Amino acid sequence: MKPSLTCREFVEFLDRYLCRELPAETSARFDAHLACCPTCSAYASTYRETVALARRAFEADDAPVSGVPEELVLAILAASRPTT
Ligand SMILES: [Zn+2]
Repeated sequence: MKPSLTCREFVEFLDRYLCRELPAETSARFDAHLACCPTCSAYASTYRETVALARRAFEADDAPVSGVPEELVLAILAASRPTT
């Protein structure tokens, strides 16, 4: 049995987890961490919603650019970051 993820690891690999880029075994460790860590659970759902909003904003040509919260901009940048 491998040690469970730390919150730091969870956050660091969260985008890959949400994109299902992780091996099943690692993904299962994320599931286990989510189940027992309310902080990361809340963070993950917020992150997921923010990325979904950002994708929608990208898809809408006439989306207003002004008034976008800084967190959303950062999330967009993180979501579009090359996976090199
Ligand atoms: Zn955690």
